[in-house]
Amino acid sequence: MSAIRVLSSALANQIAAGEVVERPASVLKELLENSLDAGAHKLEIDLDQGGVKRIQVRDDGCGVPREELALALARHATSKIASLEDLEQVATLGFRGEALASIASVSRLQITSRETTGDSGWCLQGEAVEPRPAPHPPGTTISVEDLFYNTPARRKFLRTERTELGHLEEVVRRLALSRFDVDIQVRHNGKPLSSLRPASDDGSRGNRIAAICGSGFLDQSVRLECERAGVMAWGWIGLPTYSRGQPDQQYLYVNGRMVRDRMVSHAVRNAYRDVLYHGRHPAYVLYLEVDPAQVDVNVHPSKQEVRFRESRQVYDFLRHAVEQAIAGVRPAGTMAAPVSMEQGGLQVAEPAPAPRQQPMGFPIAGAGAGYGLQQRAFYDTLQRTPMDAAPLPEDTTGETPPLGFALAQLQGIYILAENANGLVLVDMHAAHERITYERMKKDYADACVVRQPLLVPTHVAVSEREVQAAERHQELLGQLGLSVEPLGPQLLVVREVPALLRHADAEQLVRDVLADLLEHGDSERIEAQVEDLLREIACHGSVRANRQLTIAEMNALLRDMEQTERSGQCNHGRPTWTVLGLQELDALFLRGR
Ligand code: ADP
Ligand code: MG
Repeated sequence: MSAIRVLSSALANQIAAGEVVERPASVLKELLENSLDAGAHKLEIDLDQGGVKRIQVRDDGCGVPREELALALARHATSKIASLEDLEQVATLGFRGEALASIASVSRLQITSRETTGDSGWCLQGEAVEPRPAPHPPGTTISVEDLFYNTPARRKFLRTERTELGHLEEVVRRLALSRFDVDIQVRHNGKPLSSLRPASDDGSRGNRIAAICGSGFLDQSVRLECERAGVMAWGWIGLPTYSRGQPDQQYLYVNGRMVRDRMVSHAVRNAYRDVLYHGRHPAYVLYLEVDPAQVDVNVHPSKQEVRFRESRQVYDFLRHAVEQAIAGVRPAGTMAAPVSMEQGGLQVAEPAPAPRQQPMGFPIAGAGAGYGLQQRAFYDTLQRTPMDAAPLPEDTTGETPPLGFALAQLQGIYILAENANGLVLVDMHAAHERITYERMKKDYADACVVRQPLLVPTHVAVSEREVQAAERHQELLGQLGLSVEPLGPQLLVVREVPALLRHADAEQLVRDVLADLLEHGDSERIEAQVEDLLREIACHGSVRANRQLTIAEMNALLRDMEQTERSGQCNHGRPTWTVLGLQELDALFLRGR
């Protein structure tokens, strides 16, 4: 080993940059946060080549005095906190004093600024020590060029222009939702990309939400507003009908800071647990206001994590608040009416008890025409003792198939069947999902996914980004059996769906596939993600819990399972069926043989 020495400040900054500057989007986030901290109300963002060539932010904030320009670029130099006490209740987005130093160490950075009271602007270029005069309106412009030009190892991790631009746009969206009062203009390669005007009333705030999340979200969400013991939550909560295949529309702000917080997202997920299918994700734009002293933002250099001092209380508060907001829109029959309960000033909805079981615990499948027959068949089996089991229905070969013959459906979820060994239990949704998925995969591989035109083409209101994704991936969507065309900047029409899925909800299907496409980014990678897409699609085409199947349909499903590869696990790896052998049943009843 060589001798120990102190790192040069340039190298120390580059190392620190590793934590803060991951890609152009992280640079943009830091610049925008600085502008907001400087009190800006107007942001002009210029991006070139996905931000790799240039990221420039101009603001109308308070500006930086000439003599402090060099300090702004120095490490551990900040105007925002001066003491540990300040850190404990920091109200600004920045406080670590290292973003600009880090960014400057891995790019060509230039800062031009004029104080509100100043009569001229000053410009400082990365390595220069003396600012030079430069005309500038009150405010600051920081331009960051050639990101990672001097750190080739990091440059290699940059992706295509489109992907990086996608991340940059996401930063703008998040910020735009955190400050409705700020005017935001974005250009990419010299062309206008988005323009968001300040929104001061509920109507125009709604417009901004619609511009960012799509009008579909706005239409299918409820407003939330709740306060308890100094904690305030407000925002827009997507209805269960607007659930998504990806957690890609979950915007959470704590005291105006965009954060990702496991505890909070868990609390929200929990509030939806009775109303969302497994694997679905809620959409929300949610704001939490907490006493700054109650939350620690200095958890990670990217400042995207927070820690709450009373995290259990915040958890319960949020869960109740969201639960209450969606309580009124729960699907009928799944829950009892919410019980209101005073708790420190907040009306909360208590989770309702699980639906009561029928006396036998076994409601019979197929109410209506086939009811009597199935009921009799079912009670017949119940009356049989394991020892003198009545003969099973037989197929033409005279053998009982491995998964046996259907007896009944349990709680709309499980199929009960009898085979030679005992009782077979099948999770019908999981099993059907697997079968559909395997078929879709095969058809896709053979390039013969059969499409079925919809009798009435379905219109789907989505965000502009999703319309663009649909246009970009026309061909792939076609191969997946979907015919989707843009009708307007935020409107798509679905004309055909895969024939296997003709009963699926076309709108939800298209929303989820688009969310997946956006999540997976550029098209090279999408090829590798086709299986994910097919899995998503299969999930939509598969029988849902609570659909009543006839005995014939159940038997058909059992036979399909026997024919399908990997049918023992659903597409998420959970088992699709299990068997309770006669011996296990005997043991349950302490019955010796
Ligand atoms: P931090 O934001 O944690 O203080 P930064 O490295 O991001 O650290 O910025 C260093 C300092 O530069 C800030 O504390 C602030 O005083 C000044 N600064 C940076 N950007 C701006 C801006 N757009 N307008 C005014 N001052 C700025
Ligand atoms: Mg900062």
